[in-house]
Amino acid sequence: MLFVKKYYLLFIIGIFILSYIYTTPNENNKDNNKMNKTIKSEEEWKGCLTPEEYKILREKGTEMAFTGKFYKHKQDGVYICSACGEDLFSSDTKYDSGTGWPSFWKPISADKIREELDQTLPFSRTEIVCNNCGGHLGHLFNDGPNPTGLRYCVNSISLDFDSKKNK
Ligand SMILES: [Zn+2]
Repeated sequence: MLFVKKYYLLFIIGIFILSYIYTTPNENNKDNNKMNKTIKSEEEWKGCLTPEEYKILREKGTEMAFTGKFYKHKQDGVYICSACGEDLFSSDTKYDSGTGWPSFWKPISADKIREELDQTLPFSRTEIVCNNCGGHLGHLFNDGPNPTGLRYCVNSISLDFDSKKNK
């Protein structure tokens, strides 16, 4: 009986050790993911963004239609977040929506964009933010072209352009 108990105890200890080994790397990965994110205080953002960029990216403003630098832009490359440099949209998915804002039918990958409910107007809209830094990009609508039928409507001020990057 004692013999069985000893092995039972070893078995339990073994389970603890194994669960420790298998859960620890996951926790480390989580920490690494957090470290990849650009987290700054509002004071720090004020220091590194222009007043115009701060108004759009941090206070969720909207630039005037047909005034931004990218709504007619047609070069091949990658549109990146102007606050943190994260790749957001490929020129391959940019189209002329006629709205006066740069419009895309798909982000470069789904995890780059976070969707949030915006209830600042009488009707609710889907706000889109950079998943890396939380910067406001624009809004998401359901009147885009095929194949997604989506329109990612983005402020030019929230974007920079990298012509050298391949998507
Ligand atoms: Zn960003």
